[in-house]
Amino acid sequence: MSTDRRTLPSALSGATLTGHDASSIDYRPVALMPDVRVVKIGGQSILDRGRAALFPVLDEIIAARKEGIQVVVLVGGGTRARHIYSIASELEMPVGVMATLGKYIPMQNGRMVQMLLARHGGLYILPDDFEKLPLYLSLGCTPVMSGMPPFGYWEKREAGSRIPPHRTDAGVFLSAEFLGAPRAIFIKDEDGLYTDDPKKDPNATLIPRISAAELTARDLPDVVVERVVVEYLPRARWCKELQIVNGTKPGEVLRALRHEDNGTIIHA
Ligand code: ADP
Ligand code: MG
Repeated sequence: MSTDRRTLPSALSGATLTGHDASSIDYRPVALMPDVRVVKIGGQSILDRGRAALFPVLDEIIAARKEGIQVVVLVGGGTRARHIYSIASELEMPVGVMATLGKYIPMQNGRMVQMLLARHGGLYILPDDFEKLPLYLSLGCTPVMSGMPPFGYWEKREAGSRIPPHRTDAGVFLSAEFLGAPRAIFIKDEDGLYTDDPKKDPNATLIPRISAAELTARDLPDVVVERVVVEYLPRARWCKELQIVNGTKPGEVLRALRHEDNGTIIHA
């Protein structure tokens, strides 16, 4: 009996996929839905402030939809996610358990946002529903989903921390990159990225535009988006900009959805 390895003739036949020849197939993906605006509604920064903060943001998303702008809404977790992280951390849960527990909070927020958008075509979706986005968007719907990426038990550990490094900001960026959207929009409660957390440092100043490399080099004491997103941005094929806008100021969300450069732009 022959012990020859069976292969099928193709560019990668017999390849380990780990050798230097793994890059012999170019990474040139198509932009699947480049016109879609991928938008995050912050958990702590918007949703936890209740109707006074959330309703005007939803109004501007509805206004954008009426202008024919395609929007996919992702939501964060906020204070309740921090609560389960602190309890689970005290109980010595590993990072994979933390990420698994943390995913339920943005799902709750997503379900509430969907209900609020229901009469305007709000639709709660799961990552598997990405395939149905063209239909939903052409019907005039506004898909809403959790921003949490589905790493769950397989979440990587960050040195010196038990908090899952890929939370809802990361999920929003990865969704935009997958869909081929050039920009991921983050609706928070500050005008953009500052030199330090403006809630703690009154002397912090706004940075309207900065590259990911420059931001990494400046090693600011705190940042407005999860650090992994800034780390991944230079490697993006499509999503080359992060925009942070202040959802507590009227008009800012609509401007961003119209692709104006308000707030802060962090570029690849
Ligand atoms: P989300 O609600 O989307 O989860 P977060 O609360 O995690 O948003 O992050 C937004 C917060 O980040 C802001 O409310 C702000 O207080 C804080 N922050 C920390 N560092 C900075 C910085 N350098 N520039 C702006 N905001 C910052
Ligand atoms: Mg956050």
